[in-house]
Amino acid sequence: MMSEIVNLLGLDADGLAQRCADWGQKPFRARQLMRWIHQRGEHDFHAMTDLARDFREVLERSACVAAPAVIADNVSADGTRKWLLDVGAGNAVETVYIPEADRGTLCISTQAGCAVNCLFCSTGKQGFSRNLAAHEIVAQLWHANRALGAGDPAQRARGERPITNVVFMGMGEPLQNYAATLTALRIMLDDNAYGLSRRRVTVSTSGVVPMIDRLRDDCPVALAVSLHAPDDALRDELVPLNRKFPLAELMAACRRYLERAPRDFITFEYVMLDGVNDSDRHAERLLALVRDVPCKFNLIPFNPFPNSGLRRSPAERIRRFAQRLTDAGIVTTIRRTRGDDIDAACGQLAGEVQDRTRLGERAARAAGRSVPVGDREARTTRAAGKRGRQPAEAQ
Ligand code: SAH
Ligand code: SF4
Repeated sequence: MMSEIVNLLGLDADGLAQRCADWGQKPFRARQLMRWIHQRGEHDFHAMTDLARDFREVLERSACVAAPAVIADNVSADGTRKWLLDVGAGNAVETVYIPEADRGTLCISTQAGCAVNCLFCSTGKQGFSRNLAAHEIVAQLWHANRALGAGDPAQRARGERPITNVVFMGMGEPLQNYAATLTALRIMLDDNAYGLSRRRVTVSTSGVVPMIDRLRDDCPVALAVSLHAPDDALRDELVPLNRKFPLAELMAACRRYLERAPRDFITFEYVMLDGVNDSDRHAERLLALVRDVPCKFNLIPFNPFPNSGLRRSPAERIRRFAQRLTDAGIVTTIRRTRGDDIDAACGQLAGEVQDRTRLGERAARAAGRSVPVGDREARTTRAAGKRGRQPAEAQ
């Protein structure tokens, strides 16, 4: 009998069955538990009335269902909702819910900070603190579901599910926290838990080539690759991991991934940086690069943060870049920035928890917002300090 308290939020079907066996329980007990925890959002073992009383007492002594504490919970005028979760030792991570007419998407984090250190990313600039455990990744979905009323029997009877899609586009590089990401994926896809479709769960990576292959073999889901540059010289600067896994290897990994992927394309994310990667010539070279990879493009207007030294490409430039890709037959979307009024783009609030001195700055900025950038992807934008990582509209 194990002595430490195990957080059941982080156990997939096999892990839970193994624990139940250790406790002398039959495999179907694991399935029952999974449904209580993930579908009904129950954390109190005493409320799980169809489990034998002595099994409930074992659970009470040896296990828990616990999510990180909520530090902040903000709802934007457009319905976007963002939670800031306390993962201990001064670290916080963000989870963002984006409701749309035909789906609800949750954007989740996999690490506190990130070691890849992309030039344009405020999470990267915060440095790497630690990997999240599987239970901390799943807790984001568990918590959001509960907050959105998913455990409510009436809502479930109507077949309503607030969260239909999950994107790993919050803080951190999921493929540098592979084991926990894999366990979390398995729980998200499990019919006794969230039952999400593989096509509706998207892992976004800066290009950890060997782990793209592992994911293909272990648990293929939709894949988004953060490209950001059409050649190695520029990508080495923007995404330092490129020095280890250059573009030719990354494109080959994408092709291998597609052999088993649930969707027949890779989504390439491309942050639009004024004067850096946004010219017609960059677009042409990009088309040559991805010639052999069935793909869609998601152009992300850069979200500035203090001292980034970078600017967002003008709206007209982004449209023109998108048009060139579209003309070549590639489905291309421009990501809308949502939830600007609550800094819903990831990385922002968590950075401020680390550095409380910035809270004053933030209040000052909130008082003086403005800057329209154009058509429907334009929103009221703060002069500084926001990151853009909402999920692709095309997914
Ligand atoms: N580490 C993974 C997933 C998290 S980042 C990855 O890099 O893919 C999710 C997306 O947000 C990535 O495409 C990333 O490049 C983008 N991003 C990061 N900082 C940004 C910023 N300041 N403005 C716009 N997009 C940004
Ligand atoms: Fe890490 Fe992704 Fe940010 Fe790069 S863009 S530093 S990989 S979180």
